Amino acid sequence: MSVLRFDNVSKQYPGGHVALTDVSFAVAPGEMLFVTGHSGAGKSTLLKLIQLAERPSRGTVLFDEKNLAKVRGGKVALHRRSVGVVYQNHQLLMDRTVGENVSLPLILRGMKRGEIGKRVRSMLDRLGLGPREKALPSQLSAGEQQRVGIARALVAEPMLLVADEPTGNLDPTLSAEILALFAALPEQGTSVLVASHDLGLIKRMRKRVLVLDQGKLADDIAPEELADV
Ligand code: ADP
Ligand code: ADP
Repeated sequence: MSVLRFDNVSKQYPGGHVALTDVSFAVAPGEMLFVTGHSGAGKSTLLKLIQLAERPSRGTVLFDEKNLAKVRGGKVALHRRSVGVVYQNHQLLMDRTVGENVSLPLILRGMKRGEIGKRVRSMLDRLGLGPREKALPSQLSAGEQQRVGIARALVAEPMLLVADEPTGNLDPTLSAEILALFAALPEQGTSVLVASHDLGLIKRMRKRVLVLDQGKLADDIAPEELADV
C-alpha cells in the first residue's frame, strides 16, 4: 500500500530541458520524508507532477494506487483537493481574515457553513491560531502566517501534504517549529513530503531523505542511516 508512487518517471520540458530522469520511489501512509538537492535538481518538478501542474514524459505517478495519467479534465481539480500544498510564501489572501483563508478549501468542496466553522476553528486551535481567527494576515508574524498556510492545506484532511521550501523565509527557531508540526501529522494519518535544501534542518529531523541530483534520484536515505551522513 502506498499513498504516492513514482515508477520510472522522467520529465522533459518543451525545448529539451530534462528535469527528472527515471525516478522511482514510494511513500507509505503516514510517512514523512524530505526531498533535497541543489537548485535545478528537479524538486519543484517532482512536486508539480504530484499536483498535476505538469505531466510526466515517461513513467507513472500513482496517487492512492490510482494512475494520475487517467485523471483528466474536471477530475484534476478534485485530485488537487486531495493533496494539501504549503508554499514558501504562504500565498494567503491578504484582504481576507485568517478564518476566511482557512475556510476556502472547504467552501470549494461545497461543505455546509456550520460544518466549515467547526472544522476551521478546530484546525486553528490545533495550530495555536485560535485567537487569530478574525485577524488579517498582515497583522500576523511570519511564523503565524506560515501556520495559517498550513492550516489551509490541512483543513480538508488531505492524504498527503506537500510543502515546497516551507521554511525558506523563516528564522531557524520558527523553521524547527514548523517542521515539528509536520512531524506530528503522520500520527494523524497524513503523509508529508517536504522539499528543502536546508540540510542542517533535514538531518535534525531524522526522517527519510530523497536526494535529487540533476534530475536523478541519487540517494534514498533511511532515517537510521542519517546519523552517519
Ligand atoms: P526553484 O525555487 O524551485 O529553484 P526556479 O526559480 O528554478 O524555482 O523556478 C521558478 C519557476 O520557473 C518554476 O515554476 C519553474 O518551473 C520555472 N522555470 C525554471 N526554469 C525554467 C526554464 N528553464 N524555463 C521555463 N521555466 C522555468
Ligand atoms: P528545483 O526545484 O530543484 O530547483 P526544478 O524542478 O525547478 O528544480 O527544475 C529542474 C530543471 O528543469 C531545471 O534545469 C530547470 O531550469 C528546468 N525547468 C523547470 N521548469 C521548467 C519549465 N517550465 N520549462 C523548462 N525548463 C524547466
